[in-house]
Amino acid sequence: MKVSVIICAAGKGERAGLGKNKLLAPLYGAPVLYHTLKKFDLPYIDQLLITCSPEDREAFSAIAAPFGAILTEGGRTRTESVYNALKRASGDIVLIHDGARPFVTEKIIADCIDGVKEHGSAVCSLPSTDTTVIADGENVEYVPDRSKLFTVQTPQGFFTAKIKAAYDLAAESGKSFTDDCSVYTQYIAPAHLFTGDVCNRKLTYKSDFDAQYPAMNAACGQAIGIGCDVHAFGKAQPFVTLCGVKIPCDSGLIAHSDGDAPVHAVMDAILSAAGLKDIGHYFPDTDEKFAGADSIGMLKEAVSLALNAGYVPLNLSLTVQAEKPRLAKHIDRMVANLASACGLPRSRVAVSAGTCERLGFVGEGLGIAATAIVLMGRADAEKQN
Ligand code: MG
Repeated sequence: MKVSVIICAAGKGERAGLGKNKLLAPLYGAPVLYHTLKKFDLPYIDQLLITCSPEDREAFSAIAAPFGAILTEGGRTRTESVYNALKRASGDIVLIHDGARPFVTEKIIADCIDGVKEHGSAVCSLPSTDTTVIADGENVEYVPDRSKLFTVQTPQGFFTAKIKAAYDLAAESGKSFTDDCSVYTQYIAPAHLFTGDVCNRKLTYKSDFDAQYPAMNAACGQAIGIGCDVHAFGKAQPFVTLCGVKIPCDSGLIAHSDGDAPVHAVMDAILSAAGLKDIGHYFPDTDEKFAGADSIGMLKEAVSLALNAGYVPLNLSLTVQAEKPRLAKHIDRMVANLASACGLPRSRVAVSAGTCERLGFVGEGLGIAATAIVLMGRADAEKQN
């Protein structure tokens, strides 16, 4: 039996307050949508459809292309978007999944398909752990029996013909539904539940993007990279730029770019872990384009190069050695800039700073040295092989 998957991605994700579709926000160095698609890039999935609003079409196309996924027209509501996508679904079975649930597991996907074959429908769900009440906004009206309460997630799987028939009737009625099991249960038959996993959470609010997550793609192999860089004092300017933060200093660092040695070390670590050439190859200091360049912008480009090679950052550790200036009070901003450029939660980035006890060129105050180590996950293992 052929299996189609519809990824719901046509919403605006306004509750995340990111000023753009939250599925384009980076998570472990790649857009959320990329991670979700990656999970469904399985030999027994025959067709991937993504509901997409017109303003996201260009950005989604680039993410969808490596997976051979098809973009379908988003509607005014989730119900309309899914209905449009169902018209393009060619599989005997269709799984409908929220784009904002990138932590779905292969076991959940397999259980969903098996559930459809056995019961005609399979809705990922969890028994409710909280007591849930029915209230009028202020006062409890009714306390349902918790043992009969379940929270419903995605994927939700159905025989394509049946769920299409349900959506035809929903379209005729003009009603809007929040998910597919509601449509199926209303027009066809009570949908069948199967037990999912608490890890399959939905990214809804901005804070969800800063939380600790299990490392993405951990099962696909990891790679470690190291990078070092040094820049000498001697430029007539009253500051140094370290991790994108301008820090007052009696001398600037001599460089073709902005001289951000810690960021250059991080870039080399990332390129190295991804099996690429070093920073000088991609950002040569003979190229006028990089004169005075903002190194944080170059770091973002290095992260893209690594993603194209199939790797995303998982965590980053950086140490900076400098006799001057004192860095302690700037560390938080340095961490924030690196985390943002690498698409990592701040909790996955660490920066330490120290002096060299007056020994060597750092100790004599002649320059600044930085060493970075990064752990990368292989985002695209199958395609590499
Ligand atoms: Mg450098």
